Amino acid sequence: MKLFNTLSRKIEDFEPLNAPKVTFYSCGPTVYDFTHIGHLRTFVNNDILKRVLIYAGYQVTHVMNITDVGHLTGDDDTGEDKLEKGAKLQKKTVWEIAEFYTRQFNKSLTEINISPADILCKATDHITDMINLIQRLQNKGVTYETDQAIYFDITKSANYGRLSGQKLSEKNIGSRDEVYADPDKKNSADFALWFKRLGRFKNHTMHWDSPWGPGFPGWHIECSAMSMKYLGDTIDIHSGGIDHIAVHHENEIAQSETATGKLFVLLWFHNALLLVDGEKMSKSKKNFYTLDDLKKKDYDPLALRYLYLLTHYQKPLNFTWEAITAAQNALFSLRNLVLTLKQGVNRHNLYPEKLKKTLDYQKRFDEALFENLQLPQALAVIFEALKSNIPSSDKLDLVYNLDQITGLALYHVEPDVIPQQVTKLAEKRELARRQGDFDMADDLRAEIEKLGYMIEDVKSGFVLKKIKT
Ligand code: AMP
Ligand code: ZN
Repeated sequence: MKLFNTLSRKIEDFEPLNAPKVTFYSCGPTVYDFTHIGHLRTFVNNDILKRVLIYAGYQVTHVMNITDVGHLTGDDDTGEDKLEKGAKLQKKTVWEIAEFYTRQFNKSLTEINISPADILCKATDHITDMINLIQRLQNKGVTYETDQAIYFDITKSANYGRLSGQKLSEKNIGSRDEVYADPDKKNSADFALWFKRLGRFKNHTMHWDSPWGPGFPGWHIECSAMSMKYLGDTIDIHSGGIDHIAVHHENEIAQSETATGKLFVLLWFHNALLLVDGEKMSKSKKNFYTLDDLKKKDYDPLALRYLYLLTHYQKPLNFTWEAITAAQNALFSLRNLVLTLKQGVNRHNLYPEKLKKTLDYQKRFDEALFENLQLPQALAVIFEALKSNIPSSDKLDLVYNLDQITGLALYHVEPDVIPQQVTKLAEKRELARRQGDFDMADDLRAEIEKLGYMIEDVKSGFVLKKIKT
């Protein structure tokens, strides 16, 4: 199986340390605000990777963290703690905020059919592990203490910047904000391992005792501590969005490799971002949609999943309502097709020529997946197969395989989704409308409504919805 590795900047043969076992760590959400569909793009593609690994015969142990402490408004240790800020704004305790958004995160994952991580671990449950790791780093002489915090001195880390390809000198441009935040910091890119509950953090609610007095951990240390605890010193795959490469993941590498003296990660798997109007969808910009926003507009969460699959994970994807509408229509047509196939299934002996065709589709499907997860190509092979003259039973077998990878749950679709009769009428109406025959279009709309469905015209075609009674 081949995968792109951010570290080597190449597509490589993936060879885990102890095949068939694969250790896989994903950076999870910071739970001070809603999980939005930008995060979900990264989490869905992590899920696809996991499914493909399992399909390829690997035994995957997947760990994901929940950041419920220590995430400041600036990646460079400036600003406020995002959780404390959220709690103040919403007049709740930090623990309530974290719990509320963790629940919303888990619900979104279930709705979009992401299989849960084997271990989902909270930062706040691992403070002792983090303190121990910081002490290991102290013993290696790579840290220093100021009045405000314990820092990792990045000039003491060999190869700092090799993941992002940035030189230290480029990173080291001091920002005013930061000087303001801690004038005793030696290099601007040094990062905090532990913040003291003093000065700007003197009223910080979440705090723990430590060898450096009461305080709370910096953001980066949790991923090193938890991945080490559950998966060992060297892990096979570490994933996250590309926005984490330059700071968070560089810092994870620096901490982990300094502590253990071993390679931290064999393969870094990074996902391109979901954009909105050409900009990163993000909590801080407030330009995001949640799965609930989509559901309120009658979009099926799996239509979003389908939309993600149409773009390779390394390419940016711009979210538009037209695109999600088209994805939903395509998903519904696929469901109808599967229903029709199920009705027509009768297993019979295959002509050798058709059997060869089926095997060929299967082979091309697998090849697309194993070549750095070319999902759009894999889907195209299935579409070609569905249009071909191979028997329905074989088509269904292919759909079943597709489901294992994509999680679109097509195979088990229930007959009451949107009846084929209704879709056919809607397609006929769409044609009439395009040809300017509006009387005919109106008659067809009435027929569709009689069957209990309403049709809405959108830029890319139409959307069918069940009339709520
Ligand atoms: P955060 O809660 O911001 O740490 O994000 C959790 C995960 O979602 C990380 O792996 C981020 O890289 C990823 N992420 C955040 N925003 C986006 C986005 N707009 N598109 C894709 N992935 C994102
Ligand atoms: Zn992380």
